Amino acid sequence: MSSIVLFGPPGAGKGTQAERITQQTGLPQISTGDMLRAAVKAGTETGILAKTYMDAGQLVPDEVIIDLIKERITHPDAKNGVMFDGFPRTIPQAEALADITAVTHVIAIEVPDERIVERICGRYSCAGCGNVFHDIFNPLGPDGCGCDRFVEKRRADDNEDTVLSRLGAYHDQTSPLADWYESAGIFHRINGDRAIDDITADILSALQ
Ligand code: AMP
Repeated sequence: MSSIVLFGPPGAGKGTQAERITQQTGLPQISTGDMLRAAVKAGTETGILAKTYMDAGQLVPDEVIIDLIKERITHPDAKNGVMFDGFPRTIPQAEALADITAVTHVIAIEVPDERIVERICGRYSCAGCGNVFHDIFNPLGPDGCGCDRFVEKRRADDNEDTVLSRLGAYHDQTSPLADWYESAGIFHRINGDRAIDDITADILSALQ
């Protein structure tokens, strides 16, 4: 089993691109953020613990994340490889991942800090179909969202204070991984401050 990692700051567009890459490659998306939000919603022990960190814009402890991943990659859909979105985020997580699977490509979606806050504050999705919108850049149009009934959903941690903490965590704990993967020769930098289609095209060509 070999895998791809989507790497980048919060709000870089990893989730949006992950969906498109899944469609093109068939690799399942494993988003630790989505898994944690599901655990919070279900009120599990992991969810209750994770929520305090997520609300503060801090990283959830490595051992919690690594246990989630170890369990998830045992699912049958993971047997031919997966695409990680938002994992690994620390050196210990990357070390654990190296023991689990060979990473063939790390796709770094790069967006300057000053663009992140405006991208995150203002984003919302439809709870029904999952399509993502933005108050300014991509508002819900007269044609609706793709499902019968639009229900607006905003992430609790998509507010300015929490975004600044999340960016701090990214620079302190996650960005050092770039050197780690760059020295392995598998790190691909993609300019994420462009049209979504152009970014997807560059990612797909990096994966070839
Ligand atoms: P995301 O949806 O990837 O932006 O993640 C939302 C929040 O979940 C983050 O701000 C962290 O609190 C937590 N989280 C998600 N993935 C990880 C990870 N790999 N390591 C630690 N915390 C994570």
